[in-house]
Parts: sequence; C-alpha cells; structure tokens
Amino acid sequence: MRAIQITQHGGPDVLTPVDIEHPKPGPGEVLIRTTAVGVNYIDTYFREGIYPRDLPFVPGSEGAGVIEAVGQGTKDLVVGDRVAWCQAPGSYAEYVVAPVESLVAVPEGVDDDIAASMLLQGLTAHYLITDTHRAMEGDTILITAGAGGVGQLLIQLAVARGFRVITTTSTEEKAEKCRALGAHHVLLYPQATPERVRELSDGGVATVFDGVGKDTFDSSLSSLARRGSMVLFGAASGPVPPVDPQRLNSAGSVFLTRPTLADFIATTEEFRDRASEVLEGIVDGTLRLQVGATYGLSQAADAHRALQARGTTGSIVLDPLR
Ligand code: NDP
Repeated sequence: MRAIQITQHGGPDVLTPVDIEHPKPGPGEVLIRTTAVGVNYIDTYFREGIYPRDLPFVPGSEGAGVIEAVGQGTKDLVVGDRVAWCQAPGSYAEYVVAPVESLVAVPEGVDDDIAASMLLQGLTAHYLITDTHRAMEGDTILITAGAGGVGQLLIQLAVARGFRVITTTSTEEKAEKCRALGAHHVLLYPQATPERVRELSDGGVATVFDGVGKDTFDSSLSSLARRGSMVLFGAASGPVPPVDPQRLNSAGSVFLTRPTLADFIATTEEFRDRASEVLEGIVDGTLRLQVGATYGLSQAADAHRALQARGTTGSIVLDPLR
C-alpha cells in the first residue's frame, strides 16, 4: 500500500512516499481503507523528533475510512461501516489497523474530510473548555491562534458556553473567520498585547488557552486576571522554557496547567462521551468545522510546510487517492 514514511527526523522533506506491506488486523482490531487523513500540528513534533518515536515510522494518528476486514472477536462493527479515529499511529497511509474501542461510527451526511479531521481537534477543544480551567459564564477568556484547527472549534464552544472571547491571529483574512465564528474581539499581532487584552476584559481575562507556546507564553501570563487559569496546550512557535513557580504568584496567584488530550480520553467511556458531543454539534450544525485545505497523500510535505508557515486555517486533510 502507499504510505508516507519517516526514516530520519527533520523538516517536511523527510516525509517520503513509499510502498509498504499491508497491515493485518489482530484480535479486537479492524482493517480500514482510508478515505481521508487528518493532519495535525502534533504530527510536526513527531516528524522533528520533539516527541520521541522509534524510526522508521508512518506518521499521523487521525483519519476516516471504511472497514474492509475485522479481526477475531471483534464486536459492534462490520465490514462496510464508515468510521473515524484519532489515536491510530500510522494514519498517513491507504490502510490503517485500529482497535475497535478507538473508533467512532460516522453518521450519514458527514463528509469524509470532515470525519477525518473532527476528532483530534474537536476532542481537544472539548476537554479544554470543559475540564481545564476556572472561568465562569460571562467571564472573558483569551484564545491564541483562533483561526487554526483547534482555535476555530474552541471559539465556538466557548461562545456557546457564554464566555466573552478575545482571540489572536496573524492576518485580517484569518481575523474575519474568527469574527464569523462569534469571537467578540480579534487582535492582530503586534497589537495583541497584555495591555490591550486587559483593557478589553476589565483588568484581565479569567482564562488563557495558549496553543502557540514560546512566542506568546509571557504575554498570555500577563493578560490574566487575579486567580486566572493559564492553559498552555501547545507549542506551535516552539516549547516554552522552564517556568519558575514564583511567576505564578507575581501574576496574581494564577493557575498553570499543561494538559494533553490522551489524559482526557483515557477511558473508552470518556472518549465516546466527548466524541458523541462533538459529532452531535457537527451533525446539527452548532459546531462548524472548516476544512481549510486538502492535499494528496504524496504531498504530505507541502501540507506540513503550509501548517508551519502559518498559511492554513481550520483543519487540513490528505486524500489517500492522490
Ligand atoms: P493550527 O491550525 O492552530 O496551526 C497553528 C497556528 O499557530 C498557525 O496557523 C498560526 O496561526 C499560529 N502560530 C503562531 N505562531 C506560530 C509560529 N511561530 N509558527 C507556526 N504557527 C504559529 O494547528 P492545530 O489546530 O493542529 O494545533 C493548535 C495547537 O494545539 C498546536 O500547538 C498543537 O500542538 C496543540 N494541540 C494540543 C493538544 C493537547 O491536547 N495538548 C491536542 C491537539 C493540538 P496565526 O497565523 O493565526 O498566528
């Protein structure tokens, strides 16, 4: 089958199209013919070696497809079912093997590209808003990179919960997308300063959701109200250097957390509960997911280049047939 392989860590050029052996489903697993692959920022961390993984490997963990074969003892799903996943290593490929508990059924009416890119970013936005901070309805919060994949979904979930949303982005075109999703204030860099955020939030925001990391961490911390929550959830601009806990005291007895999705979908029950809420929103139209770009599987390197050059909005998808 066709797949993308990484034999050494590095820039986007290390994403190499190859032909490799078809995977086979073991007990409790299914073989899926991929119809679309989700591209996520975390894929770039694995590619660069910031997150460890043994070489060589096929990157990616998210996608959607159709079940072609089932392993021994597999219940609930049958050949021909449409499914989506976000925790199957090796998803940049024509075929993927995944355990049944890691799959959700894709409802009719949800297109392949949406199905393939709704879970990783959707579940992240969901756990961030429900379980990582202390803001209350009516409070103002700050979301960095609001036009991105996680950012767009987080704005919508935050607005739906009654938060006032300030968000940041790099271009007017991206800002327009954030406004259309309900953001109350959109700040373009370099105007996105703590002073401006404080002005717009009556002295500081109750929570910052910061997925940009190194470049924004200091100003995010300075934007918080007393006893606010600093939710650092990513490192698009690079990892944040070690933080002296005393800084949390000086910033107003603020809370700092650095959560990761795996800990918020650690049981099948929690994964399914969150996934069904995200899916429900997509099906009834209350949660809009924008697929910003589709590339052929063999163009995975171009997709990574665009993502890291801040050239994308919403989610990014690879088409395994191209
Ligand atoms: P995005 O679509 O949000 O892409 C990243 C965005 O970050 C860019 O579009 C850009 O937006 C902004 N950005 C700011 N500075 C830089 C920079 N120096 N280089 C590159 N981008 C920059 O990606 P995702 O939605 O896939 O992921 C968003 C963040 O969420 C990532 O950090 C990712 O690692 C994290 N994440 C964390 C999870 C967790 O559980 N902790 C799970 C999933 C994702 P702009 O042009 O508007 O500035």
